[in-house]
Amino acid sequence: MCGIVGYIGDKQAAPLLLEALKKLEYRGYDSSGIALVHEGALKVAKAQGRLQVLCERTGDGGSMPGRIGIGHTRWATHGEPNDTNSHPHLSQSGRVALVHNGIIENYMELREFLTKRGYSFATDTDTEIAVQLMDYCYHGDPVHAVREAVNMLTGSFALGILFQDFPDQLLAVRKDSPLVIGLGEGENFIASDIPALLAHTRDILRLSEYELAVIRKDGVAVFDRYGTQQAKQPEHVDWDAGAAEKGGYAHFMLKEIMEQPAVIRDTVRPRIKEGRIELGLLHITPEDIKNADRIYIVACGSAAHVGHIARLYIERMTRLPVCVELASEFRYCNPLVTSRTLTIAISQSGETLDTLFALREAKARGSKTISIVNVVGSTIAAASEDVIYTWAGLEIAVATTKAYSAQLAVCYLLSLYMGQCRGIVSAAETAEALEQIQALPAQIERQLAESQSIQYLASLYFGCKDIFFIGRNLDYAMALEGSLKLKEISYIHSEAYAAGELKHGTISLIEPGTLVVALCTYAPLRDKMISNIREVKARGATVLAITEEGMEQVQETADHVMWLPKAPELVTPSLAIIPLQLFAYYVALLKGCDIDKPRNLAKSVTVE
Ligand code: GLU
Repeated sequence: MCGIVGYIGDKQAAPLLLEALKKLEYRGYDSSGIALVHEGALKVAKAQGRLQVLCERTGDGGSMPGRIGIGHTRWATHGEPNDTNSHPHLSQSGRVALVHNGIIENYMELREFLTKRGYSFATDTDTEIAVQLMDYCYHGDPVHAVREAVNMLTGSFALGILFQDFPDQLLAVRKDSPLVIGLGEGENFIASDIPALLAHTRDILRLSEYELAVIRKDGVAVFDRYGTQQAKQPEHVDWDAGAAEKGGYAHFMLKEIMEQPAVIRDTVRPRIKEGRIELGLLHITPEDIKNADRIYIVACGSAAHVGHIARLYIERMTRLPVCVELASEFRYCNPLVTSRTLTIAISQSGETLDTLFALREAKARGSKTISIVNVVGSTIAAASEDVIYTWAGLEIAVATTKAYSAQLAVCYLLSLYMGQCRGIVSAAETAEALEQIQALPAQIERQLAESQSIQYLASLYFGCKDIFFIGRNLDYAMALEGSLKLKEISYIHSEAYAAGELKHGTISLIEPGTLVVALCTYAPLRDKMISNIREVKARGATVLAITEEGMEQVQETADHVMWLPKAPELVTPSLAIIPLQLFAYYVALLKGCDIDKPRNLAKSVTVE
């Protein structure tokens, strides 16, 4: 789930591995480790906690000689995060070392298999099974051992492997978890994510499912599952290395919040050609959209919240039923998919395993598939028939902001496009909507310039124990995201409620002083929201409302207001999210939280 790096070349590997792991810290982790081959022996150093602890233990890598090594940041799934369970793991004989991202699902079975053959286990992890299995399969040929072992594993894995007897080669293999190879001059690398490589190379090879790579300092050979060598074309990544730096901001999250106007511009602009929407769908035709029987949106976390907004728009513009399903549930709910169904998968990383599996499930049942992802060439992008990329650039803070906004912008375009295909949205309506979408970046820029007012409100409420977010319709979907943003980075308990639902139970939790953030941006239901604000105020709540400039009635009812610029309904969610993100950020800042790397969370969730 978190980070894998590997190096082979003429330089000392350990300092380089630690540097590369630092570039992956944003993905969230709970422990780290490195392994190297030196003078015919495997040496391992690992530590629970921050990478800094490992750096201190190894003198920033200086105390560990060797020119070949692997490194890992772990996000524990099996076995608590402690020194022993940290990766790399060594086989019982000490001949093999391995790092793993993902989950080995049949580890219990394999543990029994290996126990019967004399193996014992030092850790509680699923991963250790893989290294012992490779040891068991090893009779002098590492590639054969890895292939044989991998064919016995089920689940998801990206693996970096070292054999003590082969100090001139590093092995890598993957299934359902990302892994790329970085190509250098007289040196080569592996990494679970590109930022780890940018300081060294921009030429990469992406491994496909079950591909196994043998990496030497002067060359890389890639084989498929059956041992046939593959001719792979390197890809040049022109990512800006600065994108992985904070650029003067205190946190990546703040930098990414500030980047939103540019990101929306970059995402929208290439899709509008002479007043028409061009999404670049190559496989899904206007006929497919016209004849669709329903739409599923599968996603997790914030992407699922984008899905809730998209649902309201797509239903309105296509009059098709749209179901938003949490990807982790969709796979197991026997979904009503036919060959006329369209499934839209939304994921920033394009590697979210739950979403990938949901997409595959939909496809297997005959659905047509579109993905909305940020990372080009990611697994979800490759697995779907059509992809609409969000051009949000590298997003590093674990809590998403700019990718969320870019996904939202894509959903406006997609719903308009679908509405046109179904003859419900006219060309004139589309043209008007496109103008509104294109005006968004400038409006958000103005909002961001006034962030001090949000900072002030955060200073009043950062001590709260519980915060409720309420809203109706689009505002309810926004409340879900506002609440998630706040709780994931500030650790304040928070819940989002459909405002009309509150009285059916949760209103009993409102006590004098409880903070309720009330979203009142959706004009058709504003009066109803005002009544809901009155209800909670009558029970002693303090109300922080979000509404459009000029809504005095809301101001009179609430205690404080976060003002949004006046805007057409279509784009209001993109404006409403800005104060919600800033509020969460400043509350977390005042509480002294680790904003970019909240506890227990990971950026790219590649486990089920
Ligand atoms: N499942 C493995 C463990 O718990 C790997 C976790 C990861 O991807 O970091 O150790």
